[in-house]
Amino acid sequence: MPAIDDLPPLREVIATHGLSARKSLGQNFLLDLNLTARIARVAGDLTGCDVLEIGPGPGGLTRGLLSEGARRVLAIEKDRRCQPALAEIAERYPGRLEVIEGDALEIDPLSHLTPPIRIAANLPYNVGTELLVRWLTPPEWPPFWESLTLMFQREVAERIVATPGSKAYGRLALLASWRAEARIALNLPPEAFTPPPKVSSAVVHLTALPEPRYPADPKVLERTVAMAFNQRRKMLRAALKGLAPDIEDRLIAAGIKPTDRAETIGLEQFCALARNVAAK
Ligand code: SAM
Repeated sequence: MPAIDDLPPLREVIATHGLSARKSLGQNFLLDLNLTARIARVAGDLTGCDVLEIGPGPGGLTRGLLSEGARRVLAIEKDRRCQPALAEIAERYPGRLEVIEGDALEIDPLSHLTPPIRIAANLPYNVGTELLVRWLTPPEWPPFWESLTLMFQREVAERIVATPGSKAYGRLALLASWRAEARIALNLPPEAFTPPPKVSSAVVHLTALPEPRYPADPKVLERTVAMAFNQRRKMLRAALKGLAPDIEDRLIAAGIKPTDRAETIGLEQFCALARNVAAK
């Protein structure tokens, strides 16, 4: 297969810049540029789009996004050691890569981006879940992004696309299906990464819906489903006791039996319950 660009192979980049992987930063790198270009293609047609990339590391996915035609990539990376490697990519693609050094959980990238915007990232698991929930729960909809293409531990990916009644069904599935279309686009074995993590991974692709499937306040919905699934084996009247003193009446008003458990309740009913709770 022809090389995706004329920059040095990633193993060489890592050796040149001394980028030994740090566990504390969740560093499991993708070094196969054909694979990173494939992940970039999952993100859709990037020509004419700004792409927000979180955690570019030595730049494998960044190079994939740029070679696949992204208009611009804005990359936020916490590890200062990666800056020289990323600067080489910026030089190869003049005016198309901006790098911000810092913590993606603390930086608001919006002023650096022009719509249409897509997001792509291979992130540590905890940061990825936190950002996904933030990107799915802004007060207004549609959000600033059109799609999210994110790497997760396979088990977390399955939670995002899960349906009611399954073991994986919970807060992530509900928030994802409320305002987006989500699918697993690629499964990756541990050996796809350097160093290999202990678990398999998957790339999840989410497309923002023009409007949520049912009306609800994002904060109230998030609190309701988080509480309901925190004690998923309990009946809802017990699990949601802290949500409202008259929770049984509210469950009934939303068409939910107070003796039901969270895993059997669909999105439409959870949204009805969130609306009822918000109306108190
Ligand atoms: N995207 C690269 C790749 O695919 O090879 C690196 C992936 S590695 C799993 C995760 C990257 O996210 C690392 O480069 C790490 O330094 C960075 N990172 C970790 N926490 C971060 C945070 N809070 N904000 C920004 N970057 C972060």
